[in-house]
Amino acid sequence: MTVAYLGLGANLGDARQTLKDAVVCLAQQHAITVLAKSSLYRTAPIDAGGDDYFNCAVKIETTLPVRHLLALCHKIEHQFGRERPFRNAPRTLDLDILLYGDQSIDEPDLIVPHPRLIERAFALVPLIEIDAALIIPQHGRADGLLAGVADQRIEKVKSTCQCPMLNAFATGAGTDGKGRCE
Ligand code: ADP
Ligand code: MG
Repeated sequence: MTVAYLGLGANLGDARQTLKDAVVCLAQQHAITVLAKSSLYRTAPIDAGGDDYFNCAVKIETTLPVRHLLALCHKIEHQFGRERPFRNAPRTLDLDILLYGDQSIDEPDLIVPHPRLIERAFALVPLIEIDAALIIPQHGRADGLLAGVADQRIEKVKSTCQCPMLNAFATGAGTDGKGRCE
């Protein structure tokens, strides 16, 4: 079992709903238990045009080796209609591996910790909401990096979700992460 953190982002279609559905989709995977979910955040696009993004992060426990987890992320992105017409294009769903245990991986198609994690408020802020004392391999405490992203616009979105399971994820209470969202 490995504890990992995934970053979710979207700015095409009903982005807020997509992120909620994507968390449910992750929770329904046999090899994944969702341990915690951050709030939703609205953030400014960086190095890209298009609408504001919605972002969140989840803490998971998984039996999947990291490459299988990456493949699963790509599969779920595809299921949610992800297309890649050009770099940093608006997207229906982006699902990134931010951290995988305490591993550091540097391969052409997989870099962990995620290469832009330490320079993006939309990744750091939700992670710190989940784990205030989180340590990022090679970089130390995540909250020590916040000053460097203080100029990036990010605001927490008030939850209007009535789904008990998602609210359970949001509070981290009362779910084994395997139920269905009805
Ligand atoms: P973005 O960098 O904006 O998330 P994409 O989602 O299109 O862009 O990802 C581009 C490539 O980044 C993917 O094909 C994937 O192989 C690679 N990649 C490298 N490290 C990671 C990671 N930690 N998590 C997800 N994708 C990664
Ligand atoms: Mg990505």
